[in-house]
Amino acid sequence: MKITDVKTIRFKYMSKTVRDTDGHGHPGPEHEAVKTLLQIDTDEDVSGYWFGANPSVIESVINPALVGLDPFNREWIWDDLNQRQRLNLGTMSDRVLSTVDCALWDLAGRALGQPVYKLLGGFRDKVPAYCSTMCGDDLEGGLATPEDYANFAEWAMKRGYPSYKLHTWQPPYEGAPSVKRDLEACAAVRDVCGPDVPLMLDPYHYYDREGALRLAKGLEELDYYWMEEPMDEHSMSSYIWLTSQTSLAICGPETCEGKMYVRAEWIKNDACDISRAGVGDVGGITPLMKTIHLCESFGMRCEIHGGGPGNLHALCAMKNGEFYERGLQHPFIDHDEPAPWLHELVDPMDDQGYVNVPQVPGLGMNINWDYIEKNKVE
Ligand code: MG
Repeated sequence: MKITDVKTIRFKYMSKTVRDTDGHGHPGPEHEAVKTLLQIDTDEDVSGYWFGANPSVIESVINPALVGLDPFNREWIWDDLNQRQRLNLGTMSDRVLSTVDCALWDLAGRALGQPVYKLLGGFRDKVPAYCSTMCGDDLEGGLATPEDYANFAEWAMKRGYPSYKLHTWQPPYEGAPSVKRDLEACAAVRDVCGPDVPLMLDPYHYYDREGALRLAKGLEELDYYWMEEPMDEHSMSSYIWLTSQTSLAICGPETCEGKMYVRAEWIKNDACDISRAGVGDVGGITPLMKTIHLCESFGMRCEIHGGGPGNLHALCAMKNGEFYERGLQHPFIDHDEPAPWLHELVDPMDDQGYVNVPQVPGLGMNINWDYIEKNKVE
């Protein structure tokens, strides 16, 4: 089999999410937005897909690099793109690598008639989810107060979620960041969920050491399950310092560049208790599986960052990761409504809080081609 074309299709849709000045999403007025679909074609009438590509990079760099290659040589292709990143990070980001790699896995699954998690080595067909909130805001009845987080947690428990994670307030919101207010929200959530529900916190990412330790000590008392990224992850020393002083599990790194290599350093240096990676962080499913097996070899969990089909299939092909991150969620947004470019959800959750991996060939994206055709941007 040979790759004959690598292209993108752009289409319009109505978005209800707006970004603040720091790039975090919140509910907002409905507005027109553009989505991109990556499509990799072959000479055997089978294609692979992934949503969210950079059209100019795909056209100028990825297309010439991939056309003519065997799409099943994912390891070679990933290694080649990884090497091309040197001195080219501006265009060849980890996101680009991830987009290409996920589309190649989707293609392999479609070609062989198997869901991707079976090709990776199936371990389970469902995984418990946690309700992962959007960041704090100032919307009335949204996520503006500790009580709002508690009310939303109460809703999540009724919906069947076995676990809940807060993303609290960050700039540009007034009064943010605040260790005190973060802990008030965490306490309010613990109150409504009771003592047995695993709860997690992802706060402002740039607290100093003292702030992060105060948070950790507060969360120890509230019996939280883990905390993510309370400080800049480029300072591994800060995390070695933090983990040595708290019994709270510290989970990371998440956004720090360096794929499996940087995660190996964190494990070796006792900078984390739980490792963390997702397809978008490390450059695809291929390096995510390397990271997962690295962690397994050190007896460490790797909690998967973010939702979506790539992460779900990896989770169903591993033992050392507990939860699927279902989000980012908000009281004003219905997470159980499929995107208009898909016929159904890629991560359907049952009433017991399990996300069941779609049992169809590839990554389980049931694409609504009529919608895409109707809304195509030329
Ligand atoms: Mg996080």
